[in-house]
Amino acid sequence: GRPWEVKKVQTTCPFCGTGCNFDLNVKDGKVIGVTSNPNAPVNGKALCVKGRFGMDMINNPNRLTTPLIRKDGVLVPAEWDEALDLVAAKFREIKENYGANALAALSSAHCTNEENYLLQKFMRGVIGTNNIDHCARVCHAPTVAGLAVSFGSGASTNSFEEIPNAKVMFVIGANPTEAHPVVGTKMKQALAKGAKLIVADPRQIELAESSHLWLRLRPGTDVALINGIMNIILANGWEDPSFIEARTEGFDKFGENLENYPPEKVSQITGVPVEQLEEAARIYATAERAMIFYTLGITEHTTGTDNVMSLANLAMLTGNVGKECSGVNPLRGQNNVQGSCDMGALPGDYPGYQKVVNPEVRKKFEEAWGVSLDPNIGLMLPDMFKAAINRDLRAMYIMGEDPVITDADANHVRKGLESLDFLVVQDIFMSETAKLADVVLPGASFAEKTGTFTNAERRVQMVNQAIKPIGNARTDGEIIIELANRMGYPSSYESSEEVMQEIASLTPLYGGISHQRLGTQGLQWPVPSLDHPGSKVLHQETFSRGKGLFMPIEYQAANELPDEEYPFVLNTGRKLSHYNVFTQNSEALESYSPEELAEINPLDAQQLDVKEGERVKVVSRRGELETKIRITERVPQGMIFMTFHYMETPTNVLTNGAADKVSKTYEYKACGVRITKT
Ligand code: SF4
Repeated sequence: GRPWEVKKVQTTCPFCGTGCNFDLNVKDGKVIGVTSNPNAPVNGKALCVKGRFGMDMINNPNRLTTPLIRKDGVLVPAEWDEALDLVAAKFREIKENYGANALAALSSAHCTNEENYLLQKFMRGVIGTNNIDHCARVCHAPTVAGLAVSFGSGASTNSFEEIPNAKVMFVIGANPTEAHPVVGTKMKQALAKGAKLIVADPRQIELAESSHLWLRLRPGTDVALINGIMNIILANGWEDPSFIEARTEGFDKFGENLENYPPEKVSQITGVPVEQLEEAARIYATAERAMIFYTLGITEHTTGTDNVMSLANLAMLTGNVGKECSGVNPLRGQNNVQGSCDMGALPGDYPGYQKVVNPEVRKKFEEAWGVSLDPNIGLMLPDMFKAAINRDLRAMYIMGEDPVITDADANHVRKGLESLDFLVVQDIFMSETAKLADVVLPGASFAEKTGTFTNAERRVQMVNQAIKPIGNARTDGEIIIELANRMGYPSSYESSEEVMQEIASLTPLYGGISHQRLGTQGLQWPVPSLDHPGSKVLHQETFSRGKGLFMPIEYQAANELPDEEYPFVLNTGRKLSHYNVFTQNSEALESYSPEELAEINPLDAQQLDVKEGERVKVVSRRGELETKIRITERVPQGMIFMTFHYMETPTNVLTNGAADKVSKTYEYKACGVRITKT
């Protein structure tokens, strides 16, 4: 095209897991705006404020444009060769001195599937360790673990296109109109067509206002709530006996356990009146079809995996799996967190959830990659920081993540990273984590690369390069390949298309996927063969594991309950105009919502003697910070709600590092804090 012409490149949004497509508008090698693409498979012409206005972060002047090496304590610019040689030499040295398991990597839910695949291959095949994980550990790992136990596949069962036709929606621990706005819009379409909506949330989220029933449960009482609802369903004979008989196992023990959850007891635990429990049971169970949606309000608890399995129990009890407009639908937070899991950026899984402990699977990857592989499961993310403090872990390679800001008990995370001998951070901005690094490598944004993202409904979609990497930045995939070559593992790919061919050849879920086939519409996995059209609804004839498994689940309280010293519960979540701290690099989005406004109830404000917009100090057992407040009845008395969008108000210095026993996901959603006027 001529230089003055605007080129339009269809690609996939880099923010939430909805996976909207739009056109990047490019002029003179710069992204100048975003326009809707009416053929976008998930969203049509709809986009939220983040997708529409957040792309000015691509050309933000704060982008990292050259490698940096720490010299005399200061990060100074360096040539690529010097930086890559240094990283390769240090990794080699640490491996020789302390063994391969002294190194670990965090992969990135912002990077493409192809890049995630390359990083796990690099760690496993070149370094020789399964110490690879990513931020799913701190968000939806309980989904992956819980749904795998119940259904045999740790992914969303249904598709976004079904939402406008839903008859009943049960939204628990999710705030779609702010965190997944285009999904929220689809829910509103269903409401306009007469669907019924049940919301379960301690906070009065926007959707609660248009719901038929809002269950204001106490934080961390989800298992009790769901068991109580199921107790009522059974007592009224609202279960689906033929589905239970034909499609599931484990019902008897599960049913016995429910007897311990009579409505009155559940009401006491959850704070939800008995009539509302009954109404929820009636609406959900007597509908012909009902969809469950959840996010981190379910998973980010010490009982995260139990919470997920409870929802799976509820869906199976009423036969709400395996058909359209039903199912259990986790809304994934980050654009490619589904894909990073699919690609094996997990310590126990090769791509496609093939287990590292399975000798046959291991042999397949050993033969394909021409290496021998560690048979032991690697470290999960929270254990990496502990191992660093113990000095068992000596080096980390962190690609596109900022755990100092995003992980619970952030002061502990910082201590872990500071204990390392060598830290490499690859990112597009100077993150708080990158500030601690020995080497910083400038990666490329989604607009500067070609590859694929997989959204929350398992749709693998193209990310198409619109501009060249900014300055001297390089794509993350290219950097990993350079490092592999420098570490004696000759590696060359013509393109990310070729990486996808390798993924497809080794990963049955992605077996029939190629960039060419994805085109403008993508494909929903499993896609086992080249002529397979993709899968909109999972578990239609049988569950992935054969029969669905009922699990008896006991309620356990949150790890940290309010007490005299820390009388408030801190709850965390997102707001509409921001996406983690990342969007602070978008002037447009930052201007919508430039600072933290922690929410507290008017009665608490009165007692604390604070007014709207004043500052308070919030202290937990792990850290403290100051924040401005907003006074609102959206939060109940005794709760403070904060987002995690602001570097200058790093909420996660407060949150609890106690973790779910199965998935090790932190309990971000409930911890004790004290609030004082500053
Ligand atoms: Fe992007 Fe999510 Fe907004 Fe869609 S809903 S435009 S994927 S942030």
